Amino acid sequence: MNTSTSTGVTVRVPAKVNVQLAVGAARPDGFHDLANVFLAVSLFDEVTATPADSLTVSCTGPDADQVPLDRTNLAAKAAEILAARHGISPSVHLHIAKNIPVAGGMAGGSADGAAALLACDALWGLDTPRAELLDICAELGSDVPFSLVGGAALGTGRGELLTPVEAGAFHWVFAVADGGLSTPAVFREFDRLAETEGREIPEPQASPELLAALASGDPDALAGVLANDLQPAALSLRPSLAATLDAGVEAGALAALVSGSGPTTAFLVRDPESALKVAAALEASGTCRTTRVASAPAPGAVVLA
Ligand code: ATP
Repeated sequence: MNTSTSTGVTVRVPAKVNVQLAVGAARPDGFHDLANVFLAVSLFDEVTATPADSLTVSCTGPDADQVPLDRTNLAAKAAEILAARHGISPSVHLHIAKNIPVAGGMAGGSADGAAALLACDALWGLDTPRAELLDICAELGSDVPFSLVGGAALGTGRGELLTPVEAGAFHWVFAVADGGLSTPAVFREFDRLAETEGREIPEPQASPELLAALASGDPDALAGVLANDLQPAALSLRPSLAATLDAGVEAGALAALVSGSGPTTAFLVRDPESALKVAAALEASGTCRTTRVASAPAPGAVVLA
């Protein structure tokens, strides 16, 4: 189907939380092997592609001032790569309606990359095969393929080799911190802590217990097995996150963890009522800037009618 229009194409794309993030030792190329269980959550950015004379980016939303509007924006990079592959010029304006926290460990930039790719593909009527879109996503970044696919998936390699996994419905609260954390800086701190502690880092492996709990839809089972190897590094760089984690648990969350490389923290809750209660308590605690309530699994990037 050619969904090209003169007014534009809008794609909605979800954020993610890692319910397991197992990190291996640094490889010679500096990357780390991961066993990464991604879960897409119902916190969405929207990217609209409209015809333009040249490639431009705009952004609105509470964190818009932290989003680069030049060619380093992953949405712009996606448009450039897609256009180059098809030998056309990336003449498009990309508008990002940003709701996903920036530099928050929720793959917001990756989400916009995947969304821009899908939006430009539809706007330009290219009908690029799904496998090629996934290739371009992997070229854009480790988390980008999952943003396209959504749902729940195990990511291996740098996180970009995806296998879908089963997931029941879960409810979450996210506490957004002041300021971001750089993902490479958190990985460097992970390496530094391992070296200082003289700790052997095992091969990262997906936990069978975690995958079973995720499939079961039982929040008590999942609460017991959530695991993020980057959490000590994120807490070392941002010690104040410990108070946020404590405040959510005191308010009734079943479990709390740092989302990916942080500094957003994620709270698994029993149901939507409990989500509202925990979010209100977190906001009142003064340990975070704001909160978001979400459910999972959410679908991947999708063109809106
Ligand atoms: P991840 O969870 O994948 O490690 P993150 O959620 O921690 O990523 P992002 O929101 O993707 O972090 O932003 C990381 C940096 O990427 C930002 O500080 C910004 O400079 C840059 N960036 C590039 N494109 C975007 C975009 N479309 N939205 C937000 N940040 C972007």
